[in-house]
Amino acid sequence: MHAGDVVPGLDGSGGGDGGVDAAGHGGEDAEGALGLSHSPTRVRGGGNRVAGTGVLGSMGSENRKKRGVGRRAVLLGGGAAVVGTAVLAREELARAWWRLPWMEKPRVDGELDYRAAAWTAAHQANSRRADRPDDYRIDRVVIHVVQGSYATALKVFKNPLHEAATHYVVGKDGRVAQMVRELDVAYHAGNRDMNERSIGIEHEGFVDRPQDFTKAMYEASARLTADICRRHGIPVDREHIIEHAEVEGTDHTDPGPHWDWDRYMELVRRERSRLPA
Ligand SMILES: [Zn+2]
Repeated sequence: MHAGDVVPGLDGSGGGDGGVDAAGHGGEDAEGALGLSHSPTRVRGGGNRVAGTGVLGSMGSENRKKRGVGRRAVLLGGGAAVVGTAVLAREELARAWWRLPWMEKPRVDGELDYRAAAWTAAHQANSRRADRPDDYRIDRVVIHVVQGSYATALKVFKNPLHEAATHYVVGKDGRVAQMVRELDVAYHAGNRDMNERSIGIEHEGFVDRPQDFTKAMYEASARLTADICRRHGIPVDREHIIEHAEVEGTDHTDPGPHWDWDRYMELVRRERSRLPA
């Protein structure tokens, strides 16, 4: 059965479909290798270092020019003007520096994109560093089911050999772990384009066990998805919130027939309406 996302049986409760899903997440292997050479961020970063320095240089001289104007303003009695200009230039630089070709946004270890999550890092081999949404626009949320427990999902996503991870894992009790920053491309959909444009959410449980999809899990997941949709301007509909099984080229069937889409979408819409526009 090509069902979920973790090697069934790892946590002792699998159905003996060993290895299919871990392999099924493949293509991710290739994606990982390609990522090193094809990532726009990396390529630009490596190739344009000299040209990039030029950009920095010109920004610097622009800055000096502004300060020069400022000094004249002081002579003319415009004290407030010089302070204003200098502060503005500094702020512009602070905002813009990571937009330079080889730069990345500042990252803080353990920083969360979703406040209600607990950070626990996936192994970095299971995702690709990126600068979303500046290099890739995020316009999809992909719903998965683990084919295993919450603990199993965390364990395999920390394994450098797993070649897959999602940004978030939601437990039956409503716990949410964030394992990959939304800036980065997590290998979860088995499709490079979809990985680059999406955020992946795993849900604890098995596709053939409807009792695994608890109220607490639906509600926690809906709050998370609503928050993602708000922050990235993603419409709350089934075109943008999709199942892994709907990803082109995948052989995965998760979240499966017992995932209640009507119930889930209603919850996401409700949570979204509670958040600012
Ligand atoms: Zn999946």
